[in-house]
This record gives sequence, C-alpha cells and structure tokens, in this order.
Amino acid sequence: MSASVKIDGISKTYKKGTPVLLPLNLEINAGELFFLLGPSGCGKSTLLRIIAGLLEPSEGRIFFDGRDITALPPEQRHAAMVFQNYALWPHLSVFENVAFGLRAVKLPEKEIKAKVTEALQLVRMADFADRRVPSLSGGQQQRVALARAVAVSPQVLLLDEPLSNLDAKLRDEMRMEISRICHERKLTAIYVTHDRREALSMGDRIALLDKGVIQQLGSPVELYRKPRNRFAAGFLGGVNFISCTIENRNGADWAKTGFGEFRMENGTGGKKSGTVLIRPEAVTLAHERDTENVFTAEFVSGTFLGERSELQFKTADGMMLDVTASAYEIFSPGKPCRLKIDPRDLILLED
Ligand code: ADP
Repeated sequence: MSASVKIDGISKTYKKGTPVLLPLNLEINAGELFFLLGPSGCGKSTLLRIIAGLLEPSEGRIFFDGRDITALPPEQRHAAMVFQNYALWPHLSVFENVAFGLRAVKLPEKEIKAKVTEALQLVRMADFADRRVPSLSGGQQQRVALARAVAVSPQVLLLDEPLSNLDAKLRDEMRMEISRICHERKLTAIYVTHDRREALSMGDRIALLDKGVIQQLGSPVELYRKPRNRFAAGFLGGVNFISCTIENRNGADWAKTGFGEFRMENGTGGKKSGTVLIRPEAVTLAHERDTENVFTAEFVSGTFLGERSELQFKTADGMMLDVTASAYEIFSPGKPCRLKIDPRDLILLED
C-alpha cells in the first residue's frame, strides 16, 4: 500500500561544508505524484537519498504513514528507487532483473512469476522477458527499471532524473507512461528533476527548490501562473519583469509602469510598488475595440519557430519586452503595434 510521507525539519550539511539543505518540512499525500524541481546543485538528490535511507540527515525526521523511519536502513523502508542510469544487471535477463527484489525477500517462485509478469505487462514489456538488458533501447531499459521498482509493491517510489538519458521524443513518451503507471497503481512517487516541463506536465504537486530551500509549493498551474518571486517565475517559464507603482482606484488595482497603466486582478497584498511579472505569451495583439490594458510598442525583431514565434518589442519608455505569438509575417521592424495584457496576467512578485 502506498504511504504518505512527512519530512520534518530535515537538513543536511556534508562534512566540513556549507549546508545543502536548510531545515525543510514537507507533507506528501499517499498516491501523489510529487516533484522536487530545481536547478542543478539545489539539493534535490540529497533529499531523495535521505528519504531512501541512502544518506543520513544532519537533523530532522522522516515518517511513512506516520511511522518514524529515520533510523531504518534502506531495505526496511519499503521504498523503491529508479535511477537515471537504470542500474540494471547486464548479465541477467529482463525477467531476472525484475525478479531480483522479490527473490531477495524469498517469495515463492509462483508468486515471483506472477508479480514479474504483471509488472512487465504494466510497463508494456511482457514480450521482452527473456531478452538480455544490453539488447534493449534506452527507453526499454528504463521501462524494465520501472517494472523492477513497481514489482516489489513499494510504499514509496523514488525517481531520480529517470528520463535524463533519453532523447526528446522518448522522454515525451516515457513522461506519459510514468504518469499512467503511478496513477493506475495509486503510487506515492517522489520524482526529482531539473526539467520544468517534466514537472509541469506530470506533477500533482511540485516543490520548487533553490539553495536548499523550498521557494514555492503548489500545483503546476499555481506555480506557473502565480509564482511568488523572481526565481520561481524565471525557473518555470519566460519572463518580463516590470517595475511599477500601485494605485487603488474605484475598488480596482492599477499597476503604473513606464509604458502605461494596467488593471490587475491578482491582488497586491497592500503593496504600493514592486515588480510585476508578465509572461511573454500574456501579451497579445489588441483588437480595435479594446481600450483597457492596451499599449503601443514598436516591433524590433523576432525568431520564427514554426507553431510560435519569439518577438521583441520596444515600449514607449525604451524597455525591451519579450512576446510569444503565433503570428509572425504581420510584423515588420519599426512598426508600432497595439498590444494588450489581460488583467489576470499581471502578477505582483514578493521581491
Ligand atoms: P541536485 O540533485 O539538486 O543537483 P545534490 O543534492 O546532488 O543537488 O547536491 C547538492 C549540493 O551538495 C551540491 O553543491 C553538491 O556538490 C553537494 N554534494 C552532493 N553530494 C555530496 C557529497 N557526497 N559530499 C559533499 N558534497 C556533496
């Protein structure tokens, strides 16, 4: 059965080093596909290895379903791990690789066969049971690694950058597969990645880490649409940061910027000035009839990328604004354009 995971004041300092995890609290629900997302070196793998029992924390405790497992060795935690490099045994067949953890706990042969077959069916590798690992593609090897982890019915599944070694097309395919398997089996899964697309497309929730601190915790949509600070905004997508002062008039909040006044619907927490985030795709061409939140800017340059284009505009106060649009040919350098920003797309940041 899948367990909930509670991380209570976990910190880590490697010998003679600076802390890589500051005391950190997190609660992960049973059956949740939970992401630890952040740049390289922020402490994600350290935290995952502490949860797995491969590394001792400096302080704090870990609970599975309310049970303190901090002192237990890895094999007694009922957690299974999937690694970036698959960690399969090349001299064993696919079947024997998946059976390995089951043999270790001395299950009867009949039960092993049933569980391995079921796990291989789950990852759509049943036809490969007799194959040797080196004859499989990277994607197939990752499926076998996943089957091996799932076969032991872990209380918690831990995944450390599992797709990093795959090419882009296989990665997309495996993202959907891992989501399907986790949700079908109602697995509690903790997934480490530096790839925002993986976290945004698969995660039930994401903890965004930087320098050993959780910068923000929430659903993919919350993190993308309502980032708290510049780091979260920039890590999850394209950004324009605009300085503004804020006025409240007739019950509405207005951000006064160097190139216009914009009504904003996301609240200001009583702040009188600050930085607003405007995502590149939140700026669109205004219709003739639009009057609110409209401004004029000069098209400077653009890159055509097929389904979308990345454009740069210069605002009246000389600021460069990044805009993502589906149109391209209608713009020519130096041409003034009427653009608009939806009031829901201006986000006042904390810093
Ligand atoms: P991430 O998974 O986010 O890339 P890690 O948890 O692997 O980050 O590493 C966090 C920091 O801890 C990095 O600065 C890394 O160099 C350091 N670190 C990781 N493992 C060790 C170790 N065994 N000894 C000393 N420092 C380490």
